[in-house]
Amino acid sequence: MNFVFTPAPAVTVPVLGGDRVFPVHRIYCVGRNYAEHAQEMGHSGREPPFFFMKPADAVVVCLPGQTTPLPFPSLTRNLHHEVELVVAIGTGGQNIAVDVALQHVFGYAVGLDMTRRDLQNDMKSQGRPWCIGKGFDHAAPIGCITPAAAVPAIHTAAIDLNVNGDARQHGQISQLIWNVAETIAQLSAARQLQPGDLIFTGTPAGVGPVKPGDVLQASVTGLSPIACRVV
Ligand code: MN
Repeated sequence: MNFVFTPAPAVTVPVLGGDRVFPVHRIYCVGRNYAEHAQEMGHSGREPPFFFMKPADAVVVCLPGQTTPLPFPSLTRNLHHEVELVVAIGTGGQNIAVDVALQHVFGYAVGLDMTRRDLQNDMKSQGRPWCIGKGFDHAAPIGCITPAAAVPAIHTAAIDLNVNGDARQHGQISQLIWNVAETIAQLSAARQLQPGDLIFTGTPAGVGPVKPGDVLQASVTGLSPIACRVV
């Protein structure tokens, strides 16, 4: 094929336990999916889930045992961490029913929905899209993907984030307002999910700012933990 320029290489995330990699198609994110975080952002109640996106090439792969450099983005003075369970879709579909939704999951990973909070808040108050607040280079650090069959207890796992060794966020996956199956069902009503889609499922309470030099450690019980240093 006579490309005008060389196409960008596929964005991939390693799969634990072998040499396979997961090719990323799209990155979807769920907003306000833990009650205490919804409250800290000024909301309450079980409103229908809402979604936003990040570019696929915002992925930063965080390998086990390494502290991955995470460049501080431009334009912001308030870069926030949001630790999240990431669902890796292996089988696509549209209007997926809740009771079969987990059959579409290839695996799970730990992710960070990095957020330019000052810009996001400005965009919220002006009723503008969140693209610049949520979607930027290096906005989606993610650990290796664990196949779903290897983590049967994922839906009751603990989710944690610390900064420089201090606990900042703690929650339970069971506290998701919309669980993984419900999230897949709702998202697939809006979009045809494709193999390679990643879904960041939302963050528990305790989001806050990081600055260059800070080390973020994020974990979900049973998954490959991640560590990043803001540079
Ligand atoms: Mn988030």
